[in-house]
Amino acid sequence: MANKNVIVTGAAKGIGKACVEYFLNSGDHVIALDIDETALNNLENIEGRLHIYDCDVSKETMVKSSIQNAIATLGEIDILINNAGIQRYSTITETTEEEWDLVMNVNLKSAFLCSKYTIPSMQKKGKGVVVNVSSVQAFISQKKVAPYTTSKTAMLGLTRSIAVDYAPKIRCVAVCPGTVETPMLLETLKASDDPDKLYQECVDMHLSKRICPPSEVAALVGFLSSDNAGSITGQAFRVDGGLGIHIAGN
Ligand code: NAD
Repeated sequence: MANKNVIVTGAAKGIGKACVEYFLNSGDHVIALDIDETALNNLENIEGRLHIYDCDVSKETMVKSSIQNAIATLGEIDILINNAGIQRYSTITETTEEEWDLVMNVNLKSAFLCSKYTIPSMQKKGKGVVVNVSSVQAFISQKKVAPYTTSKTAMLGLTRSIAVDYAPKIRCVAVCPGTVETPMLLETLKASDDPDKLYQECVDMHLSKRICPPSEVAALVGFLSSDNAGSITGQAFRVDGGLGIHIAGN
């Protein structure tokens, strides 16, 4: 049903931007939170239903004021997409305390904070859905992603906790992408010695032999947050082209 109020974090680029487009095209109002003000201002505002907030979602005061402001302007919230996230590459012994805290705060604490200030609004409405964007790295990992993989795995615990504590009126699910064609991927490629070779390695490690477009992640988010998914809660869904299910060999 259209005309819902949907919060998307990390909304200005990549998967968040695709979610913004998905919900705007579905006739909903979108509350877009991001730290990149320029990119936020470049989002297409369909029929005035896009409402942008320059907000660092790892900071409680900013999250609280942005969400309260959005509720005062638009009314209660139907759907929250906790999507904002950053990738950093390090092992535990290489990771500084500052880097660990940054990754945990942006990837995990932000989902806690946005849920904390949105769930009471859903409770007033008697209904709501929280979607957490985790990663395939909640199930499998690679070298030098210790803080990232930890934060994404913890998101699944957060997903179950919200599902259990606020059932039956509020559902909470997680989506776990493999490699997705976004600015985050571009940054990773740029930092490598051979971006073309790394890109091809990414393609080859997925059974689908392609990199997922962000619109396909948004389509899964859209379905899981719709009434058609009314019996789905507490679960994680991989949109990963079969990454990591194949044992090497024939
Ligand atoms: P991206 O870097 O392309 O976009 C992330 C957006 O989040 C940017 O607009 C950025 O400005 C915003 N952001 C960063 N820190 C923020 C903060 N503190 N407050 C508010 N906004 C902030 O990333 P993406 O690839 O679109 O990733 C989106 C989510 O999907 C992330 O949680 C990421 O971990 C996850 N994910 C991505 C991939 C992938 O391959 N791209 C794979 C698995 C999971």
